[in-house]
Amino acid sequence: NVSVVLFTSDLRLHDHPPLRAALDGSREVVPLFVRDRAVDGAGFAAPNRLAFLADCLRDLDAGLRQRGGRLVLRSGDLVEEVCRVAGEAEADEVHLAADGSAYAQRREERLRHALEAEGVRLHVHGTVTTVVDPGVLAPGSSDHFAVFTPYFGHWSRQRLRDVLGAPRALRVPEGVGSEELPDRKGLSGLSPALAEGGETQGRARLTAWLRSGIPAYEDRHDDLAGDATSRLSPYLHFGALSPVELVHRARAAGGPGAEAFVRQVAWRDFHRQVLAARPGAALADYRTKHDRWRTERTAGEDVEAWREGRTGYPVVDAAMRQLLHEGWMHNRGRLLTASFLTKTLYVDWRIGARHFLDLLVDGDVANNQLNWQWMAGTGTDSRPNRVLNPVTQAKRYDPDGAYVRRWVPELAGLEGAAVHEPWRLRGLDRAAVDYPDPVVDLTDGLARFKRARGRD
Ligand code: FAD
Repeated sequence: NVSVVLFTSDLRLHDHPPLRAALDGSREVVPLFVRDRAVDGAGFAAPNRLAFLADCLRDLDAGLRQRGGRLVLRSGDLVEEVCRVAGEAEADEVHLAADGSAYAQRREERLRHALEAEGVRLHVHGTVTTVVDPGVLAPGSSDHFAVFTPYFGHWSRQRLRDVLGAPRALRVPEGVGSEELPDRKGLSGLSPALAEGGETQGRARLTAWLRSGIPAYEDRHDDLAGDATSRLSPYLHFGALSPVELVHRARAAGGPGAEAFVRQVAWRDFHRQVLAARPGAALADYRTKHDRWRTERTAGEDVEAWREGRTGYPVVDAAMRQLLHEGWMHNRGRLLTASFLTKTLYVDWRIGARHFLDLLVDGDVANNQLNWQWMAGTGTDSRPNRVLNPVTQAKRYDPDGAYVRRWVPELAGLEGAAVHEPWRLRGLDRAAVDYPDPVVDLTDGLARFKRARGRD
C-alpha cells in the first residue's frame, strides 16, 4: 500500500513519527508539503519566514533524495491538494502531525471528512511539534494552565517518548507531480543577516550549542551583547528540529545551563496549550482587559520611531534595529522593547505584535501574541503592572554598552555605560552625536501608564 506524509510545521527527517509510521506500514510513501493559500492569505507570509521556509523545503528535499525519494510540493487549498495527491498516488493512508491551533483543528476536520469520502484514512500523530501536546495537562479546575510554574512542574514529570532516527531509504510512487521548490533568492524585503534554514543547519547548530553554549546558558542568557542563547527558535518554529529530541539531548548534556534551557523550551508548550484552549487570545486580551491604549492614529509618530529604532532610548533602538537586520531579536530585547511600546508609550500591544510577526523569522502566533500579552499586562503575567525601565535594563543587561554600540553606530564613539544616556551629553559633545532626543520622558510615560490603569 501507499501512504502520504503531509509535512506542515515539522520539516525534518529525524524524529518524525508520521514519517516513521508511514514507512512501517507502506511500500511507497509520498512526502508532501502544501503551501496553504489560506495561511498566506491571512498575512502570515512574511518574507523572512518565506525565505527560511524555502531553505527548509530544499533541505528536506535534498535529504529525501539522498534516501531515494523526493519532496512533492503543491499549493492551493490544502484539503483539495491532499485529496488530489492521495488520488494520484492511489494512497490509502495520510499521516500528519497534530496541531492545536484553531485553524489547524478546523482544517484537520475538513481533511478527515474529505479523505473518508475517498476511502482514505487520516492518522494524526502527537508530540511532533511540541514536547507535551496541548490539552494533555490541565489543572483540574480548568481546561488549561494559566500559570507557568505549576504547568512546568507537571510538564517536567511527563515521560518522553524515545527519539526516532531518520529513515534510511524510501520509495516515492511514479507519476505524482511536484511544483518547483521555492528559492530564497527570488524573494525581496528580506532582513540582510537572516539565518539559513533547514534541518541540516538546525542540527549542526544544536550540536554546537550542546557542546559549547549550553553550559553557560543559566548565567549568560540575559547578556545582550554576549548573544549566549541558542538561536534555535526558527528551527523549532518550522519543525526542522524536534522539540522532543532537543529536550532529550539537553537533559543528557546535564547541568544548570541545560535545566534553565529546558525550562525555556517548556514556555513554548505552555503558550501553545493556552492558545489551543483560548484561540481568541491571539487578538483579544486574555485576562485583564484594557481599552485605553493609544493607537496608530493617536500615536503614529511614536510607533514609527519605535519600529525604525529611533526612539532616543539606545537599548530600545539597538534591539529594534537588530530585528530589522536579522529578523530575530534577543529575548531580553523583546521584553524591553515590548514593555517600552505598551507601558512607556502606552500603545496597543497588537500593533507591536503585528510588527514582530512581520519580521521575526521565528514569528509564531502562540509565542508572539502571548508573550506580548504577558508584557502588556493583559495575559498570564502575575505582575501585570510591571514596567521595565529601559535605562536600568540597559545598564543591567548591557553593562559595557557593547550591544548598543553594535547596533547604533551613531553612538559608537561613546564609551562604556555612557552610551545608554546620550541625553546627558552637553554642548559640543551632544552636537557631535547625530542621535534623536527621547520620544518621551520616562516620568511622563509612567504617569500616563498609571492614569490609564487607574492607579494614580
Ligand atoms: P533560547 O533562550 O535559546 O531558548 C530556547 C527555546 O525556548 C527558544 O528557541 C524558544 O523555542 C523557547 N523559548 C524561549 N523563551 C521563550 C518564551 N518566552 N516563550 C516561548 N518560548 C520560549 N518566540 C518565538 O519562538 N516566536 C515568537 O514569535 C516570539 N515572540 C516573542 C515576543 C515577545 C514580546 C517576547 C517577550 C518573546 C517572544 N518569543 C518568541 C520568545 C523568545 O523571545 C524567543 O523564543 C527567543 O528569544 C528565541 O531565541 P533562542 O532560540 O536563542 O532562545
